[in-house]
Amino acid sequence: MSTEENVTLDKRLMLINFAKDPEPFIVVDTEKCNSCKTKPCLYICPAEVYTWQEKLNYNTEGCMETGACLIVCHKLGAAAITWKYPSGGKGVAFKSG
Ligand code: SF4
Repeated sequence: MSTEENVTLDKRLMLINFAKDPEPFIVVDTEKCNSCKTKPCLYICPAEVYTWQEKLNYNTEGCMETGACLIVCHKLGAAAITWKYPSGGKGVAFKSG
């Protein structure tokens, strides 16, 4: 296994800058999540924005703005996610890559 394969998610996320938008750009109707059978958001997000501890939790800091969560939630889940890009100058900025 190469050194690159051993890099943790936290270390990978340190390669991005994130300017917090005071307006929430992801909003989840978590009541719908309780009846979501597949919960694909837990598996699709490379930044692990979504976690489940007795209910859906989400932390948008570190969101890479792929929009994948929105697609899987609406195609396979219970359509609970509302998502838009952060305001201008906010959100993710990649340092390299
Ligand atoms: S996929 Fe959508 S509805 Fe299902 S748990 Fe995730 S956010 Fe909730």
